Amino acid sequence: MNIENYKLEGSLIPIVTYPDPVLSAKAAEVTDFGPGLGKLVKDMLFTMYKAPGIGLAAPQIGQSIRMFVLDVDYDREEVTNAAGREEYRLSNFNPMVFINPVITGTSGTTVYEEGCLSVPGVYEEVKRFESVNVKFQNLKGEFQELEAHDMLAICIQHENDHLDGVVFIERLSNLKKTFYKKKLLKEKGR
Ligand SMILES: [Zn+2]
Repeated sequence: MNIENYKLEGSLIPIVTYPDPVLSAKAAEVTDFGPGLGKLVKDMLFTMYKAPGIGLAAPQIGQSIRMFVLDVDYDREEVTNAAGREEYRLSNFNPMVFINPVITGTSGTTVYEEGCLSVPGVYEEVKRFESVNVKFQNLKGEFQELEAHDMLAICIQHENDHLDGVVFIERLSNLKKTFYKKKLLKEKGR
């Protein structure tokens, strides 16, 4: 699969929500770079764009492996189709896949209001590094390195946290963390 020529196609995978135990597990290294991995990446991107979201980590679809996809650049425009219904037209895809990522350097700090497809309805400011260096493998298993800033850096940190079993509400103050944990557990119990 060539993600540079990404087309909006694939299968929708159900997204697991907090407090599903897979979201708090430390994910395992990816060792199999066979065709199944390419198919999974394609379906994860499709699921992410449809949600819509800007990032999706494998544990969020119940696969406890160290891999995430993201796109911080695409456009999403509301249009009226031929049948007169509102729909979304997505364009300018810039999909990225990070396999076995390791953050090797960080600098600066920034605060941004984050949300998560696995924690619906919660948006809170989280403190992150402004820039990160990340080493990772691509779909062919080749090692790559990237220096990311701003939105891309924030997204990489958020998704990388998922691989370590950390959901963004864990990064909030104790007061907010307790509040959201209680609230989400209660909602899940209904
Ligand atoms: Zn998330």
